[in-house]
Amino acid sequence: MASERIADPWGPATPYEAGTAWPVRVDAHSDGEPERWVQSACVLCSNGCALDVGVADGRIVGVRGRGVDRVNHGRLGPKGLYGWQANNSPDRLTRPLVRRGGNLEEAGWGEAMDTVLERARSLLDEKGPSAFGFYTSGQLFLEDYYTLAVLARGGIGTNHLDGNTRLCTATSGQSLKETFGCDGQPGTFADVDHCDTLLHVGINIAETQTVSWARMRDRLEGAGRPRLVVIDPRRTEAARHADVHLPIRNGTNVAVLNALIRELIENGRVDQEWVDSHTVGFEALAKTVKPYTPEHAAEICRIDAGAIRAAAELLGDAERLLSFALQGVYQSNQATAAACQVNNINLLRGMIGRPGCGVLQMNGQPTAQNTRETGCNGDLPAFRNWQNDQHVEQLARLWNVDPLTIPHYGPPTHAMQIFRYAEQGSISFLWISGTNPAVSLPELARIRSVLADERLFVVVSDAFPNETTELADVVFPTAIWGEKTGTFTNADRTVHLSEQAVEPPGEARADREIFLDFADGLGLQDKDGAPLIKWRTPEEVFDAWRECSRGRPCDYSEISYEALRGGSGIQWGGERLYTDGRFPTEPDYCEDFGHELTTGVTFTEVEFKALGAAGRAMLKPAPYVPPTEEPTDEYPLILNTGRTVYHFHTRTKTGRARQLVDAAPDVWVELSEADAVRLGVGEGDVVRVESARGRVDAPVRLTGVRDGVVFIPFHYGYWDRGGRDGHDRAANELTITLWDPVSKQPIYKTAAVRVERV
Ligand code: SF4
Repeated sequence: MASERIADPWGPATPYEAGTAWPVRVDAHSDGEPERWVQSACVLCSNGCALDVGVADGRIVGVRGRGVDRVNHGRLGPKGLYGWQANNSPDRLTRPLVRRGGNLEEAGWGEAMDTVLERARSLLDEKGPSAFGFYTSGQLFLEDYYTLAVLARGGIGTNHLDGNTRLCTATSGQSLKETFGCDGQPGTFADVDHCDTLLHVGINIAETQTVSWARMRDRLEGAGRPRLVVIDPRRTEAARHADVHLPIRNGTNVAVLNALIRELIENGRVDQEWVDSHTVGFEALAKTVKPYTPEHAAEICRIDAGAIRAAAELLGDAERLLSFALQGVYQSNQATAAACQVNNINLLRGMIGRPGCGVLQMNGQPTAQNTRETGCNGDLPAFRNWQNDQHVEQLARLWNVDPLTIPHYGPPTHAMQIFRYAEQGSISFLWISGTNPAVSLPELARIRSVLADERLFVVVSDAFPNETTELADVVFPTAIWGEKTGTFTNADRTVHLSEQAVEPPGEARADREIFLDFADGLGLQDKDGAPLIKWRTPEEVFDAWRECSRGRPCDYSEISYEALRGGSGIQWGGERLYTDGRFPTEPDYCEDFGHELTTGVTFTEVEFKALGAAGRAMLKPAPYVPPTEEPTDEYPLILNTGRTVYHFHTRTKTGRARQLVDAAPDVWVELSEADAVRLGVGEGDVVRVESARGRVDAPVRLTGVRDGVVFIPFHYGYWDRGGRDGHDRAANELTITLWDPVSKQPIYKTAAVRVERV
């Protein structure tokens, strides 16, 4: 069974045709006979496949997919089937650690929390709330995040709270805000069942969300096959199935998308009546894309102009177009500008809010949607607008605090700026929960130096020892998925309940409980002197969240733990958003007034009102601007980093699951055949990849990456390299400290590098 799903990550095909239900296929894997099954969902990517956890002798022994669930119809990919073994890893953190004399040593909870509280109290007195930064995750539960958001924004009163979702889905959320006025996926995975054309832009979905690809693959192999257009510098599994593959040079998304939009307009493929009724900005968009002839874009992207025309023809012929984007857009040059052009294509075709017609600006992480919704990723909770005083007052009423306690003098601080403030010394206390920035942030030598700086007090909550816990002053051991109850929401707005299946190991505790202890210890109070945070159990947090979200676009008020038990997960907002062609762009309701896409300049309310959207979507244009770091004679190639099929992020979990480790034990470098010949290297030869910031040594794989581009998976760090010294394994040794001007998402796809045989 194990080798089966490693050899075939998508499992046996179950072809089906348009408009019919995707057949159920229940996947399972256990290492023992479960005594009971506990309802949950997978937390190893944003697909959120529903599963039951098998338990025997108080330990997790396996999983099986839930056939009743709308997301996966029973299927599980390799990470879902085997990743749970990390819970049983012998190196789990089971006791708090406190740094004494330079070394991390075990301590009791009381001592560890007192150490943190002592530093926090003195910093609050000396420097005030802005000395505090919180950097959280896309892998905790809604109940953890909402507790943290109230603690940080309503209690301490700091604006410096962000998630590692800044690295993975900030552009998804931002592009939805720029186009539709608010975050929230318009589409649904069920649109795969109805579409006649699929557009993939910078998304290697066959590896990153294997079950979603299985659904598409089954449509592609069934009757009434949809057409598939793939834009990606790599010949991915989806590209191999594509009718047209545009292998553009990294960093040129906007150029190719502008050319596609130009072709749609020039060839009369715009649904003008719908566009006139439901959007604003068409004239400016048409003017901006005018210079992007297929030939001009082909020159920028280094592809064939005929292929651009062929792709535009497929998009123009579509009657039910479903578009996807991910990190090839979000982590690249002009991230938000490019993501908005994907939205624009669907809007121009009037293909949104109907079966088979939609946009999925996909998320990377399993619970990233909750980070964004609860106010832990650069927004106020429940998609409230920091520039709207009424929205701030709503939160203040809900939390019974003074509106001035909730910082809204500027946009919530993004992660890259939080680390900059830590580097500069204005942030002196940084609490990192459920994430590993010492491997996942760009330019790792800099990040290690920031975290190791004695001026910065670093608290880390995690379940495993990793590269970041090593740099902490205090480490709290956490209970993870399977060991606590809570909810999370996937990329198509499906909310799942995950029940506690087993006890956490040792003294590990849920992040929610740790944040509550901290809030109590600091004595955070509401206006009436009562404890600021009133809840204790997960369900009490969820109920508080239902009230917080009531009346907002992400309204959970009709969803309860009870409703989530037993059947399928439930989508907030219904199956599709915007079915009536109305969008949340009224100034007093929208989440964001938006930005100028090239410079990132923030629009004021007056400027937003001048767009005149008021219920219509916004077609925002952007000219192509070349990447900041282009190849040079010294560094002639472009680095592309990313995720691969057997691992998730920095492998804190998947690096502790036997089948996944065996399938992909160490880092590699992908080159095109032509580049390999030019460099005089072949499959398996060890090469050194160097940028101006660091180096990685790894064996070569010859793949379908385009010429001039080098791919390295970013999963690998240093915790499991058997005592070998040196920082030459993590892809982010090479990447650059730059971010998109609008979404503030770091740019991981355009660093200049050179490659030499070692
Ligand atoms: S597709 Fe994602 S959510 Fe589904 S089993 Fe695989 S890793 Fe888990």
